[in-house]
Formats: sequence, structure tokens, C-alpha cells
Amino acid sequence: MKFALDRPLGKLAKWLRILGFDALYWRGDEGELLERARAEGRVLITKTRRLAEGAEGLKVLFLEEDNPFFQLRRVMEALGLKAESGRVFSRCLRCNTPLQEVSPEEVQGEVPDYVFRTQERFSRCPSCGKVFWPGSHYERMLELLRELEGR
Ligand SMILES: [Zn+2]
Repeated sequence: MKFALDRPLGKLAKWLRILGFDALYWRGDEGELLERARAEGRVLITKTRRLAEGAEGLKVLFLEEDNPFFQLRRVMEALGLKAESGRVFSRCLRCNTPLQEVSPEEVQGEVPDYVFRTQERFSRCPSCGKVFWPGSHYERMLELLRELEGR
């Protein structure tokens, strides 16, 4: 399942990407957002009622929640999503591209020294070049996921 999110949902888009979902975040023209969602078969997730009502031919989820955590919970419930641990951190948080695993040697000099010394797993975005490592975020993430699923 792929998603398209509108302007107020930047944090939610990031969360969905952390979970490994393909989440297009679009801050531009609303018509273009609808067009891309249709062309790419994306579920539209929006906080803009006008947009939800004008999205003919699209599967739409309209959110009223303001808190990204509750938004995520609502999306997972409404669409029956599961956080599969194998897919967590498989996608670039900045641009949504699937990441490629790289060896520590390949990122030496690009990441802070303490990160290079303490981390074993790195991945790089083939599109924007950003390097990611699970680090301390990873544990916090997993805790949050357990909370989401253990409701
Ligand atoms: Zn990227």
C-alpha cells in the first residue's frame, strides 16, 4: 500500500517512512497531489476536508487528529497496517527512496567519528545521498511500535 499525504502531515509522512511505507509528501499544488495519487495508485491521507471531498476515484483517509502519534495509530487501524520490523528504516526519511545497505568503510568520514565507532549498520539513500544508521532512534521507535500494536 502506497500513500500520498498533504501539507499538514509532514510528521506523519516521516513516521510512515520510518516504518518502511512508500509515503509521498506533497507541499505543492493540491491538484497535482491528486493527479499523482491517481497515477501511482496511492491512498490519499489528508487533514484538509476540501481535498478529501474533491478526491474522486481515490481511496481517501481523512484525519482529524493533530498529534502525529494518534494520526499514525488511526492510519494503521483504518488501513490495517502492520509494522513489520524487517521493513523499519528501509526508506529515506528525507525523500522516500528505498535505502541501500552499505558497509561502515563506505561511510567513514561522512558520519561523525563516534557514530562510525559505535554503529555497525549503515544505509545510504541512492537518490539524495543521505546516510542513515538506526542508532538510538531505533530503540525509541521499537518502543513506540510496541505501544501502537499493544493497544
Ligand atoms: Zn533520500
